[in-house]
Amino acid sequence: MIVAMGASASEEEIQSVVNRLRRDGYDSQINRGVQRVVLGVFGSGFPPEYGETIEMLPGVESVTRISKPYKLASREFKHDDTVIEVGGAQIGSKDFVVMAGPCAVESREQLMATADAVAMHGAQLLRGGAYKPRTSPYSFQGLGQQGLELLGEARERTHLPVITEVMDTDEVDIVDQYTDVFQIGTRNMQNFPLLRRVGQTRKPVMLKRGMSATVEEWLMAAEYILAEGNMQLMLCERGIRTFDTTLRNTLDLAIVPMIKRLTHLPVIVDPSHGTGKWYLVKPLALAAAAVGADGIIVEVHPDPDHAMSDGPQALTPANFEDLMKSLEPIVAAVGRRLCAAVAV
Ligand code: PEP
Ligand code: MN
Repeated sequence: MIVAMGASASEEEIQSVVNRLRRDGYDSQINRGVQRVVLGVFGSGFPPEYGETIEMLPGVESVTRISKPYKLASREFKHDDTVIEVGGAQIGSKDFVVMAGPCAVESREQLMATADAVAMHGAQLLRGGAYKPRTSPYSFQGLGQQGLELLGEARERTHLPVITEVMDTDEVDIVDQYTDVFQIGTRNMQNFPLLRRVGQTRKPVMLKRGMSATVEEWLMAAEYILAEGNMQLMLCERGIRTFDTTLRNTLDLAIVPMIKRLTHLPVIVDPSHGTGKWYLVKPLALAAAAVGADGIIVEVHPDPDHAMSDGPQALTPANFEDLMKSLEPIVAAVGRRLCAAVAV
């Protein structure tokens, strides 16, 4: 249920509605917009006429029942786009944000070479996995804490904020020390304890779509993070499983404008995992910008043939430079800008 209060509602009136809801057994969350203050009320099975009762309280403009199962993620709860500031980048605003770096942190040499290249060519965030969720237990699992330390070093060196994956509730504290954005990977989209745990931090989170997740499942996963009070959440479309096996995944670009209708959350597109092929990364990245994505996350490696994971989808630094040049007119055509690199 959504309780809308006028912009002129006093703090006292807002608190008295919150208190009344609490007395009746319902928690709520306040969203203060420019035009109005909105209370998202948690719960289901409200008694008949309960909406009408709340509507009579001073300062309340309207009460709407949200039929969708996700509440805090919905446009009804928050009309204005969520904008997340990372370093100086405003994700979800006019800025089109580019996150780039290796699939996995492999060594100091590999990470620094990649970080220097993506910083030089205009990335705004450095990506890189220290904890890798590999399909096979025999594949390279990432450098763990050492990988995080190298990311910290690359962050100091390039001044790029870092995004890295966290796979386990026990690792949230250590990852928190090194990252600017928590990445939740496709395989963990429904790891509910992990979602709650990152929801309890006050650091931005990027939630990737589960490889077989419906939009509703994805947004319900988002709801777990939001319900813990962390509203700095962005979504990432990274391709889903379909009947076609030509590509690694089927990148669902139609969902980008749809998600923006349904929710207020920024949407990032990952054309690297979405296609699995380096030569498809550029066309799909351009398409992502054209359909209104708020940014992209792409894999870059100085020597893709010898990468320890996801080599076939990695751009070389030269390919990345070419991508950045090609993005500029597309981003401008949809009324956005490639934001300048930011210092942390
Ligand atoms: C990644 O970004 O490194 C990754 C493992 O992606 P996904 O969770 O989308 O497979
Ligand atoms: Mn990868």
